[in-house]
Amino acid sequence: MNTVIITKKAKCPSCDERIPIGGRLMLHQLVTCSNCEEDLEIVKLNPVILDFPYYGDDEEIFWEDDY
Ligand SMILES: [Zn+2]
Repeated sequence: MNTVIITKKAKCPSCDERIPIGGRLMLHQLVTCSNCEEDLEIVKLNPVILDFPYYGDDEEIFWEDDY
């Protein structure tokens, strides 16, 4: 097993603090801000962008399939 543990920093949209996110990162993974304890969702990887999980009712998420 080859597991790479990485820690990245991403800006919290709630408190503007750059919070460390460790472990295996997946798109749409839910994380909690260590500063303001807001629940956030990873909406982009490389760089990691956080957003509110239920932000924007009529925004659709398109999966990028490279098959
Ligand atoms: Zn925060």
